[in-house]
Amino acid sequence: MTSETPPPVDPTPVERRHRVAERAADEIQHRLAEPLRPGLYLVATPIGNLADITLRALVVMTRADRIYCEDTRQSLKLMQRFGIEQRLDNYHEHNAERERPRILAALAAGKIVALISDAGTPLISDPGYKLVRSAVGEGHAVHAIPGPSAVLAGLVESGLPTDEFHFAGFLPPKSGTRKNRIVELATIPGTIVLFEAPTRLGDCLADLAEVLGERPAVVARELTKLNETCHRGTLAELASWAQAATVKGECVILIGPGQALAVDDAAIEQVLLKALDAGSVRDAAAAVAERLGVPRRRVYDLAIELNEKKRAKDE
Ligand code: SAM
Repeated sequence: MTSETPPPVDPTPVERRHRVAERAADEIQHRLAEPLRPGLYLVATPIGNLADITLRALVVMTRADRIYCEDTRQSLKLMQRFGIEQRLDNYHEHNAERERPRILAALAAGKIVALISDAGTPLISDPGYKLVRSAVGEGHAVHAIPGPSAVLAGLVESGLPTDEFHFAGFLPPKSGTRKNRIVELATIPGTIVLFEAPTRLGDCLADLAEVLGERPAVVARELTKLNETCHRGTLAELASWAQAATVKGECVILIGPGQALAVDDAAIEQVLLKALDAGSVRDAAAAVAERLGVPRRRVYDLAIELNEKKRAKDE
């Protein structure tokens, strides 16, 4: 009689899923038990889909001596979802000056301090930069726990070039200053990534279209959420769409690089006016030439003319 080994049986789909769940649970168990080095941890959290939390984010939030967040009510939802019971403290623009020395003292005492924002990666249009600068200055360890980021999620699904990009945060809310800022961004060679509130989206896109002209662009809305959408078109097309529709939810605007844009004199003068208020003709011309990527001589001549006009007006 021969005893044959039965052929291996392929796991069923349910068994496969159980295996993944078990391995993830093992991984986090193992990491929760490991010692965590003291220091400041910048922990990225989901931008809409709670399943985007990372294992390391859960470990750091569980092991931290202190967790600082922008809005405790907002962060509590995340903590409760994963059963994390650590105390939350606020760190936001209104109390940062007062709280920062306390956080630095905790770091000096060898504590583990985590900083999270309402959503996404801290410091990216969110509080934390000055804290990190001070922590680095005082020689404390600073660790990034990477994860969700509206900038990168929008960029990678936009279909626009990713080899070079420039994140410019939120543009100014008023059209005049916003257009000046857009002029400054016009010569950037890569994809431009912006944040914008849905209520300002139409007006912002209209200004972008006016200054930057025909460029491919994308509005990535409600990234990672069930009703995520990605609108693609030229800036002018997207401006018409956003001005006609009631756009709701959080948005990232992404603008593809244009043809090497000819910056006209009016655009240079617009930026020069502000620069001339702050410094001499020579300094203003040098700064504006560099910012707009145009020859210094041309800007200098325009600055002289502008300055003379200004002086004549003042007399
Ligand atoms: N630090 C965050 C990050 O790393 O994603 C960004 C914080 S900033 C205060 C908030 C802005 O990010 C929103 O106004 C919106 O422009 C963008 N944003 C955040 N979540 C988003 C989402 N799920 N979809 C699209 N844009 C989002």
